[in-house]
Amino acid sequence: MQSVEHWVAGRAIPGTSGRSAPVFDPAIGVQTKTVSLASTAEVDEAVRCAVEAAAHWRESPLGQRTDKMFRLRELIVAHRQDLALLVSQEHGKVVTDAAGEVARGLECVEFACGIPQMLKGSHSSEVSKGVDVHTVLHAVGVVAGITPFNFPIMVPLWMMANALACGNTFILKPSEKDPSPSLLIAELVQEAGFPDGVFNVLQGDAVAVDALLNHPGVDAVSFVGSTPVARHIYETGTRNAKRVQALGGAKNHMVVMPDADVGAAADAAVSAAYGSAGERCMAISVIVAVGAVADPLVDAIAARIPEVVVGPGDDPRSMMGPLVTAEHRDRVTSYVQGAADEGARVVVDGSSDDRDGGFFTGCSLIDEVKPGMRLYDDEIFGPVLGVVRVPHFDEAVALINANPYGNGVALFTRDGATARQFEREVTVGMVGINVPIPVPVAFHSFGGWKASLFGDSPIYGPEGIRFYTRPKVVTSRWPEPTDSAIDLGFPSTR
Ligand code: NAD
Repeated sequence: MQSVEHWVAGRAIPGTSGRSAPVFDPAIGVQTKTVSLASTAEVDEAVRCAVEAAAHWRESPLGQRTDKMFRLRELIVAHRQDLALLVSQEHGKVVTDAAGEVARGLECVEFACGIPQMLKGSHSSEVSKGVDVHTVLHAVGVVAGITPFNFPIMVPLWMMANALACGNTFILKPSEKDPSPSLLIAELVQEAGFPDGVFNVLQGDAVAVDALLNHPGVDAVSFVGSTPVARHIYETGTRNAKRVQALGGAKNHMVVMPDADVGAAADAAVSAAYGSAGERCMAISVIVAVGAVADPLVDAIAARIPEVVVGPGDDPRSMMGPLVTAEHRDRVTSYVQGAADEGARVVVDGSSDDRDGGFFTGCSLIDEVKPGMRLYDDEIFGPVLGVVRVPHFDEAVALINANPYGNGVALFTRDGATARQFEREVTVGMVGINVPIPVPVAFHSFGGWKASLFGDSPIYGPEGIRFYTRPKVVTSRWPEPTDSAIDLGFPSTR
């Protein structure tokens, strides 16, 4: 059986820990590969290589870095279908959706191609008599990137493109559920001409993650995953005096006002709830139906669900693939099976998809969901859409603001004043107005509020450049020797 290994110092390295995990093809429900799980000793060796490479890489001219980044862009474009197929084989999402993920990751590489403009720093002339000040942006050093299963190409590219362009070296610890795309990225980075040790991949689980968090050679940690792990990463990394950004889970609401176009809102709800089988951190999982829109909206969503073709990711007719593992599928369907007992109303039960093999489940729609139910309180991360009915706009905002998560949110309305009030009042980091999945473009930054982001740094875009650099401020003066005198007073600018 094929084994998925590490990539360190420019080449594939077989694992030596003796530990491994199974990798499945979720469309057939069969183990197809094993993935090595790194030991602490293997982490030590990868960090040693990354530290060694950092000394040269941070001194490389900006023009050389951009040449390599442009080349990486071309290679990703040339291999976009290979990347998408690999994602689909291990994650389960349909190939067109996987290609969309590659495209959004590619945009982060394109952003990083403009790095000379972003590292210009600043200069102030004559801040005092004969004194100038300039700020330069230095690389932080070695960055560890720990990524989730649901975007095995896009999320690593969110991190590594900016990190490398800023002059850092990078150790990627991808999800052990779909580890192979990380190695294809590594090969493309190598082919693009990045020096050995600048980009490394360590396959592994919590052992490797904790070794990275505790290693003195790691300067910064970028994490994307579930909230409990994000909290652990943030607390452990910052206790070890590392710079940490840790993006967590989500419960994204979509508010539909009575004035909204019901058909358009239903199309958006179905697309955003069931796309990628609900395994997106920006998936809509709760519809907040305001006033009289509830009945027609629930009917319109239910009427559209049979149009969603569920099937293997490589079948061009499929619109939604399987879930990533059997355990995750069983956890997701348990919410649907327990919904009635919690007092909710099951409108469409997709949990009984009885397809042989494969970790499939259909789309489910549950009405009359309320806070306090597991259905509402938990991040389900599957194709289960709940509907909460509220009488007015104010209750919709209060519901969202009381939720511990604050990743994404959407409002569907035709009224500008309502939209403006919503945008100002919700305690959520990414807001869509008549846009159900408001993932920011690569030249803005991505990040939630509350339990969806630990630390103060959103990811990619301008915030990514800030996170992967540290400023050095130089104050300089070139006096004539005759100007020199002793002065014990505090330096004055006047
Ligand atoms: P996860 O938290 O289980 O795993 C994420 C990473 O952490 C993986 O690399 C995993 O190996 C590692 N990990 C898992 N348990 C660990 C532990 N105890 N100690 C140290 N490391 C550990 O997340 P997942 O299931 O792979 O991904 C789905 C989750 O990610 C969802 O909660 C989703 O909302 C979230 N997510 C958030 C964003 C965002 O931008 N906020 C984006 C994508 C996914």
